[in-house]
Amino acid sequence: MKPLPGDVRAALQLAQSLGLDRLDAQLLVAAAVQQNRAWLISHDDAVLSPEVASLLTGQFAQKAAGTPLAYLLGEKEFHGLLLKVTPDTLVPRADTETLVDWALEILQTQAPAQARVVDLGTGSGAIALALKASHPEALVEALDLSHAALAVAQDNARRLGLVVAFHQGDWWQPLAGQQFDLIVSNPPYIAGEDPHLPALRHEPIGALTPGGDGLSDLQALIEGAPAHLQPGGWLLLEHGYDQAEPVAQALRQRGFSDLAMRRDLGSQPRVSGGRWLG
Ligand code: GLN
Repeated sequence: MKPLPGDVRAALQLAQSLGLDRLDAQLLVAAAVQQNRAWLISHDDAVLSPEVASLLTGQFAQKAAGTPLAYLLGEKEFHGLLLKVTPDTLVPRADTETLVDWALEILQTQAPAQARVVDLGTGSGAIALALKASHPEALVEALDLSHAALAVAQDNARRLGLVVAFHQGDWWQPLAGQQFDLIVSNPPYIAGEDPHLPALRHEPIGALTPGGDGLSDLQALIEGAPAHLQPGGWLLLEHGYDQAEPVAQALRQRGFSDLAMRRDLGSQPRVSGGRWLG
C-alpha cells in the first residue's frame, strides 16, 4: 500500500498524480481540514492527521473514478444558495440558473403578488428554494417522486430557513385540483442511448433520463400543465440542447401562447416556455 500523504503539499501531489484538477483537490483538502482555500494556499506544510490523510486518499480515488465533486463535498452552490446534495439528487447545474432567472422575471412582472409556484421534480430543492429565496412573497410548492430526494430538499429548506411545501408523487398526481401562476421543471430529458449518460453514472439515473428519445416527461408536463395553470400562468421547462424544437411544437399544439426560449451559459437552447391564456 502507498504511504498516506503527510502534509498538504503531499496530498496535492497525490491528487495531481491521479489526474485531479488542482482546484478540486484544494477544495477537498480544505474541506477535510475544515479550512478555506485561502488558508490552504498559505499552509502547504500543514501536517495531516492519519484520519484526514486516509479520508483524502479515498476521496481522491473516488474523484478520479468520476464521482462528482459535489457528492464528495456534500454541497453545491446554486443561485447564491449553498445546498446539501447527496447521490439521491442530481447535482444542481449552473445551466439551470437560466430557468430560475427567467422565472424570477415572470414573478416580478407578470404574476400576482402572492404568486403560486410549483417545481416538479425538485431533487435537492434547488429551483424551488432559489425562487423562494429571491422572491419570498411567492407561495412555493415542490414535488418529487423520490422520497430520498425529498428528504434532502426538506433538509435544505430547513437549513436555509425557507418555507416551501413539499409533496411526494408522480408529476401531476399530488396536485389534483390545484392551480398555479407559474409551473417550472427540470425533468429527466436525456435520451436513453445518449453517449453522455455513462459519464453521469454516479447521479440518479431516474433524474437524468426517461429513456427513449428523452421527451416523454417533457411531453407529460406540457400535456398536464393547462389543468393546473391560472389564466395567464406560465410553464417553463428545462430541456436538452437539441430539444427546443420538439418542446416548442408540443407547447404550440397544446395551445400555449407567447412561446419563448432561453439559452444556457454555453449558448445552448436550454429552457422553453409558454403562457396559458385559458
Ligand atoms: N443538464 C443535465 C445534464 O445534461 C441533465 C439534467 C436533466 O436531465 N434534467 O447533465
